[in-house]
Amino acid sequence: MTDVLIIGGGPAGLSAALILARCQRSVIVIDAGEGRNHRAHEVHGFLTRDGIAPAEFRDRARRDVLRYGVTLLDAEALSAALQSNGRFRVRIRETVNGAERERTIESVLLLLATGVRDKVPNLPGFDRFYGSSVHHCPYCDGWEHRERRLVAFGDGDDAIGLAMSLRTWSSRVSACTNGGAVSAEKRTVAAALGIELHEGAVRSLEGAHDRIERVLFSGGASTECDALFFNTGQGLRSDLAKQLGCCIGDNQKVQTDERQCTGVPGLYLAGDADEDVQFVVNAAAEGARAAVAINRELQDRAAHRQS
Ligand SMILES: Cc1cc2nc3c(=O)[nH]c(=O)nc-3n(C[C@H](O)[C@H](O)[C@H](O)COP(=O)(O)OP(=O)(O)OC[C@H]3O[C@@H](n4cnc5c(N)ncnc54)[C@H](O)[C@@H]3O)c2cc1C
Repeated sequence: MTDVLIIGGGPAGLSAALILARCQRSVIVIDAGEGRNHRAHEVHGFLTRDGIAPAEFRDRARRDVLRYGVTLLDAEALSAALQSNGRFRVRIRETVNGAERERTIESVLLLLATGVRDKVPNLPGFDRFYGSSVHHCPYCDGWEHRERRLVAFGDGDDAIGLAMSLRTWSSRVSACTNGGAVSAEKRTVAAALGIELHEGAVRSLEGAHDRIERVLFSGGASTECDALFFNTGQGLRSDLAKQLGCCIGDNQKVQTDERQCTGVPGLYLAGDADEDVQFVVNAAAEGARAAVAINRELQDRAAHRQS
């Protein structure tokens, strides 16, 4: 029986593990690999680590928690349940000596830090450029392409909303709405900001090596660009929060309070899965906030047992 089981070993989960281990709690982190930003070349916007490779960030974070005796399991959590005794039971699948096996782990409290999965455009060429010159977050990668020819890709008005945001980084922005409906209001704003509209369906992305150079449309026309940003949505990476009865909001995020509690007794959640501002630094901060709340709950339970 471990004090705290953390599912998800990204910035949120590992940050929580660090604080909890330093509170002398027994902690197991289960992680299935490939954090959300694994396709990126560099992490931007994290003080003291700006420009670090995502894999190196993760390795360093894992080394930090190992120093305090945290158990790291490279495994997938398949299901989770809150038992009648108030403890959590999680079924995991792991590979041991080349063979897959399943087993269950029990914990007093549970933290979900399983993140989100981006819905990426299904376009020929996308995979080649993703992470180098095709991105989803202007805050993460806009500076690297400042004052270059930027394309915003999305469905109708979504593309124009993204293009408006990209004007912070470049005056040369166009929007590819991929055949989606464009409202009169957004059309007016785009014209006022000098955002060129391409309303046809996109056929493919083309370029040299990992650098995008143009967007090709179904009719044969094309537009030149140096980088493309997209906003085609995202969803929760794991359905464990739903399995455990958490409330999912209209924004498809898990609802938590200011201490990262989900409302399910003993269940906390941190990171992108409940957060609108999705940065590594925010995920790590939420993990730390959850850890403090979890430690307090363990303190309260101990005090209650003794009184
Ligand atoms: C291409 C790209 C570039 C980005 N660049 C930046 C940037 O420059 N700066 C920045 O601040 N942010 C950036 N972000 C956002 C950043 O990646 C996220 O905000 C951050 O990773 C969120 O951390 P997290 O811990 O919530 O989730 P994640 O980092 O996604 O970690 C979740 C972990 O949970 C694990 N997991 C999920 N389900 C299970 C399960 N059932 N069992 C076991 N493990 C599970 C996964 O394996 C994963 O390792 C970028 C995102 C993308 C997509």
